[in-house]
Amino acid sequence: MTILITNDDGIHAAGLLALYSALRQLGTVTAIAPERPRSACGHAITLHKPLRLRPLQMPDGQTGYATNGTPADCVALGVSDHVGGIPDLVVSGINLGPNLGVDMTYSGTVAAAMEAAICGIPSFAISVASHEKAEFGPAADFACYLADEIAEHGLRKASFLNVNVPPVPCGEIEGVSVTRQGRMRYSNRIEKRTDPRGGVYYWLTGERVDHSRQPGGDADAIAGRRVSVTPVRLDLTDEDLLEELSAWGLDWSG
Ligand code: MN
Repeated sequence: MTILITNDDGIHAAGLLALYSALRQLGTVTAIAPERPRSACGHAITLHKPLRLRPLQMPDGQTGYATNGTPADCVALGVSDHVGGIPDLVVSGINLGPNLGVDMTYSGTVAAAMEAAICGIPSFAISVASHEKAEFGPAADFACYLADEIAEHGLRKASFLNVNVPPVPCGEIEGVSVTRQGRMRYSNRIEKRTDPRGGVYYWLTGERVDHSRQPGGDADAIAGRRVSVTPVRLDLTDEDLLEELSAWGLDWSG
């Protein structure tokens, strides 16, 4: 199996190295990741400046690459004929911190998996659901397991998987749940502060409003110490609203 891995925490992140070491058991793994942390950059791509690839040595002596680009850039570069060509699988992570609910739309980790889906390559994003506890072992093992399952079953085109792993040791994980994107979102997003010179500035922050008891939701699985696997599709059309909107009878010709 040929596997391209990337992330949004940067090429030196422990989560990427854990993923790299684990997936090496399955085949040829190429790591291409941002040279610096790019968390919450979403699906940004670089259109107006050169992209550079800097080779570096991975722990096993193989060559990996740092880029000045975003996670989505890493996938675009990695699958191009100039670099690796089309791999069998793209895996993004292991992210330090959950990607639940609306996090999916902000996440560079998830965007990289989405970019792979756009390129027609099976992919998944994988995150450990804690910012503090860097317990990457279980997530790395699960990534291997899921890569095997995807090789066996295949993934439908224009879809990918978003995986969150509870931040607990292997023996304390209660299983796997196939989930839907939950309703976790943020409240009180902007803090207003004053700098030492009296100037006002703002800091984007916010508390998680965690609807973790939403049955079948991604956060519900994590609360139950289960691995959450959410199928995601590129098509963002709201089917219900499509019908409702059609009934508006919109008619305008300028
Ligand atoms: Mn991140």
